[in-house]
Amino acid sequence: MLTVNAYGATSATAPLVPLTIERRDVGPNDVLIAIRYAGICHSDIHTVRGEWGPIAYPQVVGHEIVGEVVEVGSDVTKHAVGDRVGVGCMVNSCGECDACLAGDEHMCAKGNTQTYASVDRDGTITQGGYSTHVVVDEDFVLKVPESIPYEQAAPLLCAGITTYSPLARWGAGPGKRVAVVGMGGLGHMAVKIAVAMGADVTVLSRTASKRDDALAFGATAHVATGEEGALESVRGSFDLIINTVSAKLDIDAYLATLRPFGTLVNVGAPPEALPVQVFSLIMGNKAFVGSNIGSIRETQEMLDFCAEHGIAPETELISADRINEAYERVLASDVRYRFVIDTATL
Ligand code: NAP
Ligand code: ZN
Repeated sequence: MLTVNAYGATSATAPLVPLTIERRDVGPNDVLIAIRYAGICHSDIHTVRGEWGPIAYPQVVGHEIVGEVVEVGSDVTKHAVGDRVGVGCMVNSCGECDACLAGDEHMCAKGNTQTYASVDRDGTITQGGYSTHVVVDEDFVLKVPESIPYEQAAPLLCAGITTYSPLARWGAGPGKRVAVVGMGGLGHMAVKIAVAMGADVTVLSRTASKRDDALAFGATAHVATGEEGALESVRGSFDLIINTVSAKLDIDAYLATLRPFGTLVNVGAPPEALPVQVFSLIMGNKAFVGSNIGSIRETQEMLDFCAEHGIAPETELISADRINEAYERVLASDVRYRFVIDTATL
């Protein structure tokens, strides 16, 4: 066992505090990673505050992890000491079900083992990336290309893959009009990736405050949805909408902005239900679907795509003692566009 410094929650309501956690001994297929940077995802906040259901405390979250391999198990072949690597939202899966055998570990029939707040194979609860070290099965460790700046790489492991996957699956590319709803951590990556794929991108954000940034990221238009008649102005416009909003949203109003046969993909994960009028779908042969992160293969594809296209998240580096302040700023949409923790400060 390795005792490591971390920052975590002791209850759903108390601020996060410094604490120590145990990491398992490095097994034959494991990699020990010295974490350098960890991103703050809105899912971390939903989880520690019990918004998705009760969890066990203490709980360390964080599933946007980059660092260096410092030890490998005897049977490890994919990674070597010194490699720059990443870990995203899952750290294991059954490896035997149809989904796992097809390379869709994130769809594992037994449920993949999430990087935090999940029951690990040894029965313990997984602890996430706001910590100095993590031990992970080599199959769930990604290679982070050297050309992606170290400090900026971490958010790709969740915000990057969660937006890349539906954009790729639903064919964002030349000739396609894509709208991104909500421009936070996921949303700003959705814009950059969709632009790099060749799509025409519109940002649907509540106010005009992020307009300049949206255009700088390559969007051709920005609509301030809080303004009167805003969604009416883009009625019937889009082939594909990626909704990244972390709160309840009037889905019918957004479905009306799709063209016939268009698709609205929900990646935002608010605890509340998102009701839909059936006629909002039937009348235009429209689809309202969800998307959950991405497979390990697709996550590597996304990292290589970002390296090839020179895409990286916009980040604000913070010390660990600013995590609670960062949470409040995420909730107030006062983040441009992802907080990243410098784990040397843990
Ligand atoms: P974030 O940085 O907080 O961004 C969310 C954005 O949503 C905000 O920047 C804001 O954009 C908009 N928004 C917030 N509250 C709103 C409200 N009440 N009404 C309308 N718009 C609102 O969060 P994130 O880290 O990108 O995560 C977004 C969501 O995706 C979370 O629910 C998270 O749990 C979920 N998630 C899902 C997956 C998956 O696999 N499906 C993976 C990761 C995260 P504007 O200021 O531009 O309006
Ligand atoms: Zn996340």
